[in-house]
Amino acid sequence: MLKRIFGMFFVLLLLLQTVCMASARIEGFRYNTLFSSAQAQFLHIEISLNQKVSKYDVHIDPDNKKQLIVTIPNTKLKNNDLEMRNLDGKIANKIALSEDQHNIKAVISLPYNASYAEYKTYMVDKDKRHRKTPVLAIDIAKEPAINNTTSSLRSLRGHTIVIDPGHGGSDSGAVGPDGIMEKTVTLAIAKKVDKILSDNGAKVVMTRTTDRDVYAPNDTAVEELQARVDIGENAGNADIFMSIHANSFINDTAHGTETFYYNGSDNGKNLASFVQDELVKATNLADRGISTANFYVIKHSSMPAILIETAFISNNTEEQLLNDETFQTTIAQAICRGIAKYFQNN
Ligand SMILES: [Zn+2]
Repeated sequence: MLKRIFGMFFVLLLLLQTVCMASARIEGFRYNTLFSSAQAQFLHIEISLNQKVSKYDVHIDPDNKKQLIVTIPNTKLKNNDLEMRNLDGKIANKIALSEDQHNIKAVISLPYNASYAEYKTYMVDKDKRHRKTPVLAIDIAKEPAINNTTSSLRSLRGHTIVIDPGHGGSDSGAVGPDGIMEKTVTLAIAKKVDKILSDNGAKVVMTRTTDRDVYAPNDTAVEELQARVDIGENAGNADIFMSIHANSFINDTAHGTETFYYNGSDNGKNLASFVQDELVKATNLADRGISTANFYVIKHSSMPAILIETAFISNNTEEQLLNDETFQTTIAQAICRGIAKYFQNN
């Protein structure tokens, strides 16, 4: 009896080993450029395999931000002819496959920072669209709006920028007709601004990065706003302070973009006008212009400071726009271009 149990155990071990050893093999790869429904170009890469794989991963190379790395564990190359392809450089420059300790690493070299790319990987079964083998597909699109302006964002490098996402925590800010809260969209936009500025070499100091009160829940307005000013003042010679808000009015037809600066600050006025111009150009929202205001954070910050009322959250159309991630990106990019122009000219 004992012998039989041992025997079964042995067979099980063998089986287990066979399953583990059954590595996949790459038969070939090809790529072409396709158009999405929005007429945006994207690169479609297909790695054909002799069997389906369930584990794969794509990430930005931490040592080279212009490279995307796709890893397929427990897989080998059929032959060495498959190692490299040079591309036209519009979306990617090169794809290189290599085999290392039974794992495949595909390095896709891009002509721009990979954080500006959108990418996804997915398995396509062999029977779909008359495929003879299963393929691991990788789609890569670059966000043209950001990439086209990369050079003009160079002036951001080395500057310290304080970003203040309006409201947060116990203070929702204005709430739109569909219940979208100002504190949510200001934080979403601020985070995108943070990423673009940081990617372009600026030092960013955020007054908050989560849904919270900066001073304390249910604090007074002065306590809360002074806490935000203090973060800017303690940021170590910050160059500018920028507060992001959404506007609100009892009349729900009020709409458009407006940027405020503190009266008497010439640099604040310059910054406001560069940012306002870029916002209006990018969003096509009504231009309400720049104005002076006594808002606490711009009055009490010692560096040039502006407060942006991106759009009216009380207007249902603009509320929906503010809640839309693509629109948030458009706003964030425009803000960053405006800041970059300010630094170019100051
Ligand atoms: Zn507000």
